Parts: sequence; structure tokens; C-alpha cells
Amino acid sequence: MTGRSADGDSARALTTVLRGAAAVMVDGQTVTTGDVVIDSATISKADDVAVTGVAADVVDVTGCIVTPGLVNAHHHFLQSAFRTLPGTRFVPMAQWLTTMAGAYAAAHTDPELTGLAASVGLAESLLNGVTTVADHHLTWPAGVDPVAMATATAQAGRTLGARVAFVRGTARDDPQAAADSVSAIVEALLLDNRSGDVGAGVTDDGMLQIAVGPSGVHADGPETFAALAKVAAEYGLRRRTQANEQVDVEIAAQRYGRRPIELLDEWGWLAPDVTIAHLCEVTDDEIALIADSGATATHAPGCDVPMGWGVAPVARLLGRGISVGLGTSGGGSNDAGHLLADARLAMQVSGLVGEPVSATALLAMATAGSAAGLGRSELGHLRVGAAADLCVWDVSDVHDAGVADPVAGLLWASPGRRPRDVMVAGRWVVRDGRLVTADSREFAARLRAALAARVD
Ligand SMILES: [Zn+2]
Repeated sequence: MTGRSADGDSARALTTVLRGAAAVMVDGQTVTTGDVVIDSATISKADDVAVTGVAADVVDVTGCIVTPGLVNAHHHFLQSAFRTLPGTRFVPMAQWLTTMAGAYAAAHTDPELTGLAASVGLAESLLNGVTTVADHHLTWPAGVDPVAMATATAQAGRTLGARVAFVRGTARDDPQAAADSVSAIVEALLLDNRSGDVGAGVTDDGMLQIAVGPSGVHADGPETFAALAKVAAEYGLRRRTQANEQVDVEIAAQRYGRRPIELLDEWGWLAPDVTIAHLCEVTDDEIALIADSGATATHAPGCDVPMGWGVAPVARLLGRGISVGLGTSGGGSNDAGHLLADARLAMQVSGLVGEPVSATALLAMATAGSAAGLGRSELGHLRVGAAADLCVWDVSDVHDAGVADPVAGLLWASPGRRPRDVMVAGRWVVRDGRLVTADSREFAARLRAALAARVD
């Protein structure tokens, strides 16, 4: 197949060939060597396309490992504007929530700030090898148009060339108003960019997904869960929530005399289209309920560990056949959107709560596992036909010298590593460690200036 990509973007190469990789992690089961061929926005077989001649952009990746682009299954972009806030370190979750909410209000959170925080969070994500991010947005100030809030985040994704799953979250919102705003967001951002029944609430080009997500049983009652489930079913949107963090377990017990997962079950929120983030302090009975329902999970140790919420028993979840993805959660607890670093942390702490989880299993979680929770079978792997989202990791320097297993070394060696190059949908977005779709320092400066102007 030749010809320009469907949108006629002439900046996008027809065919890109990555030549000479030390290893190619195709998926969690398969590591190969040889060329990676990208035809337009899709991974192709080498013999399917003419890989020689002027049409091919041949990139030397000797000394590098190629992996699928990482998929961050749980982020809160707005918190990127509120990192290391005084009063948010080593405090109980209830106090943390109050302090964060106060900060959002003091900064007069609106579409402008939301867009700036999303731009910073997305630029940081791409520079860290994350090509798709689920942004669970929970802050909807009175009098601010929800569509404008969602549009600001969607636009940041378009500008940067990152895939965004925008999750219309709730935290003590009016149930019907929240559901109505989901309809308005879908009508404004999705339906014009979708032909037919694409499924999972994704635009035709795969760059924007809309989902719904109550914050959790600690913040929202059954009416909110029901209203969001109804509107999700109407449009075919995925559902996401959080459960079994510290306060969540306490409030479920005090208010309802139940475990959080029992409540989600009673409220119709254990189903294959639901993904549940955090899952610290989860009991064997709760794990069984999740497994039987087909719901998926997201592990977020980069938030849960520093917050003192515990470590989700990943090996037990996986052992029961539950699909588990990986997320960072937001800057108010994690302070970084570095999913690979969190995969390393997850690996290191996994043995504290059960069987250790291997580097390969963690990489599979951070790619295909997260994609499964979004209902996106084209993401998170490099098999033929996959979306051309990938990372090139340079393992030729001293940080990786002496490493026997280069793929395991991605996690065990060189903490905080960043990719040399990153591609999303066949388009290079990071080259030689720098963002090419925008000026990342400008985003940082604009966010700093906006915060300085807003906060006394
Ligand atoms: Zn979270």
C-alpha cells in the first residue's frame, strides 16, 4: 500500500523502517530482532511494503530496544499543576483530598488552566514514552462549561500528537448534571469525528476517546453510578472508577457497611467494560467478585506507595485471570507521569504482597494491560496491524552495560530512563529525547505564569 495517510498530512512519512534493533518487544510473550516496518500509521510486515527507495524513512536503531508505546491507564492531568503542595505529603487521604480541593479552588480552575496542565502532563508523558493517557478528570467548578474543560484537554492531545482517553469523572457532582455533561461532551468532541459504530467511544482516527468515571464510592452515591452507567451505555463508552484506597474502604464501611467492591457489584459497576484503579487493601472475596465479572484493574503504585495506601496484590489479581494495567495517578500524589519508573517500582514492591511480578509482566501491564482496560486492542503491542505507537530505548551506554537480558534491563537498570524516540500513529513525536510536536519548555513556562497570576 502506498500513498499519503488518510488525512493528507505530508509531514507523515509513508513508510518508516526501524533498522537494526538489539531487540523488539512485540508484546508480553514475544521478543524478536529485525526490522520494524511502519506503513502510514500501522505496524506492517516487512514484505508487505516496498521498504527500499525514496518512500521509506530508514531509521538506525542499532543499540536500541523497540517497545510498544506505553499506555498510562490512570492519570489526573490537572494535578500536574499542583505537585509537592505543602500539606499533601505523608498525610491521611482525607486531609490530602481537602488540601488538593482547596488548591484547585484557589487557582480558579477553568478550561485555560485545565488545558495548560493537560499540555504539561501530555508533553511529560510523551517524553517518558507514554503514547496514550487516560485522564480521569474530577474537578468541575460551578459555572464553568464542562465541554470547554474537556475540549481543552482534547486540544492538548491534538497539538502534541498524543492519544487521550478523557474520562468525565465525578466527585460529589449532581448525578443528572454530570450525565448530561457527558452527552454534551460526546456530541461536541466525538460524534463529528466518528463514522458508524466504532465502539469504545473513540474518534475515527483513534486519537481521542471519551469515557465516564465516578471518583469512587467514597465520593459518589449509587445515583451517580447509575446515571453515568446509563449515559455510557447510550453512547458505548467505557466506564472507569477508583476503589479500595484508604478513605474508600473506610467510607464504604461507615456509610454502607460494605466493602467497596461489594458496593460496585450491587450498583452494577462490575462488568467487562469497567476498569478499577488502585485496589489497595483488596480482599480475596473482592478479587473473586472482580474476576467473575470480567472487570479489569489498574495498578498505580507510584501514587499508592508514597501515599501509604498499600500495594495492590498484582500477582493475585493476575492469578485470578484479571487483566491489569498500569497507571501513574496524578501529580498531587505521584508528582511524575513516568510510567516506566512506576513499572520498576511495581516490580520492586510486588514481592511484599505476594509472588513477585517480573519485568516482562510489568511491561505487558504498562502496554497491552492498560490498553485492554480502554477496550483498545490496536494499542499496546507491535503485532502486524497494530497502531504504530512505539518507543526506541537506547541501551548502548554505560547504564545498560553488562545487562544480560535487555528487555528486563529496561526496568531493572537505569531508573528514570527516557526513550530516545517516540512515535504515535506513525508520526514521530519525540526524537533524540526532545519533543518535536511542540516546545515543552514553553508549556512549562506558560503553566508557571498562569499559576503565579492566579494564586495569591
Ligand atoms: Zn487516582
